Amino acid sequence: MSIGNSKIFFLEYFKGFDKVPAVQGIFGDKTTAVLSHLTVEFSWINGYMYVDGADGHLVISKGYLSRGDRTDIYLDLIHELCHVKQFMDGKELFDPSYEYVDRPTEIEAYRYTVEEARRLGLSEERIRFYLKTEWMSDDDFQRLAKSVNVSVA
Ligand SMILES: [Zn+2]
Repeated sequence: MSIGNSKIFFLEYFKGFDKVPAVQGIFGDKTTAVLSHLTVEFSWINGYMYVDGADGHLVISKGYLSRGDRTDIYLDLIHELCHVKQFMDGKELFDPSYEYVDRPTEIEAYRYTVEEARRLGLSEERIRFYLKTEWMSDDDFQRLAKSVNVSVA
C-alpha cells in the first residue's frame, strides 16, 4: 500500500500567489516562473512547513494546513518563500554553526515576514504571538524579536 505524500506545483494549490506584492518582492520578474516550478509536498509531519535543504522544495504539514490559523499560514508561506529564494541563491539554509534564532537566513526571512505582518495591520502583540513558537525558549524568542525589531513587551 502506498502512503506516499502528495506533491503538486505551488501555483496549482496556492492560486494567484504570484500576484501577491510581498511574493513579487522576493522573486521580482521571475515570480510566476519560480512558483510554477516550485514543488509542494503535503506531508503528515508534525509542525508547520519548511524548505527541504536538498532540493529546495516546500514541505507543508497537512494538519497545519487544515487546522492552522490562516494569517499564520500566510506569513509562514512568505517566510518559506524567502528560504526558497535563498536556496536558489546558493545559501546554506540549515547552517549548523548557528542557533536557529541567530542564523542569518532565518533573520532575513523573519524580517521580511514581520514587514508584511505590519503591512497587514497586525498588532505588535499579534506579531510577537506569531514569532514565539512552542519550541523556542524565552531567551531565544527575545533574541529573535530584537533582531527583527519587534519589541518584546
Ligand atoms: Zn525559516
